[in-house]
Amino acid sequence: MKALRQWLCDSCREVIFSPEDAWVEWLGHRDGGRTGFRICHHQLATPEGFQSYSIFDAASGRPNMHMNRLIGPNGLLRLMEMVEDQGSFSNSSGYRRVANMKEFLELMRRVQIPHYEEARQYIAAYQEDNFFEKDFERLQVQELQAVIARYGPDASTE
Ligand SMILES: [Zn+2]
Repeated sequence: MKALRQWLCDSCREVIFSPEDAWVEWLGHRDGGRTGFRICHHQLATPEGFQSYSIFDAASGRPNMHMNRLIGPNGLLRLMEMVEDQGSFSNSSGYRRVANMKEFLELMRRVQIPHYEEARQYIAAYQEDNFFEKDFERLQVQELQAVIARYGPDASTE
C-alpha cells in the first residue's frame, strides 16, 4: 500500500487506491457530538455499488468530507480545527464536538502517519508477540515499517 495515499475501506475492506477515491465520514449527533469516524470508498469509486456507499444513510446526521481535504499539512490543520472546535459550540448543542476522541485519534493516525494504515492490518499478530513491548498506537514510523516487514505478505518464512 502507498503510505498516506491508500487505505483499507471500513465498509468493504478493499483497498482504496487514491485519496480521490476516499471519503471520510462520521455521525453527528445533535446532543452527543461526533462519533463513528471511518474511511470508505467515495460513492463513485466503491466496488459495492452506489447504494451501500454509507452505513450511516439511515442515521440522523451524516457529515462527511473528501479525503483530499484531510491529507498533508493542510489536512492536519483541518483535523486539528475539528478538535479545537471542542467547547466553542456549546450553544449549538455540542454538534461539532468530537465525542469519541479515541476514534478521532485513530482517524488522524490513519490519515497522517506514514505506514500506520498498512501496519494496522497486523495489529493482532503484533499484539501476540508484542515485539517492541509497547502498544501498537505508540509505535513510531520506523517501527510501523518493521511491523509490515515482519508480519506482512513479504515477510520471510524462515
Ligand atoms: Zn469500499
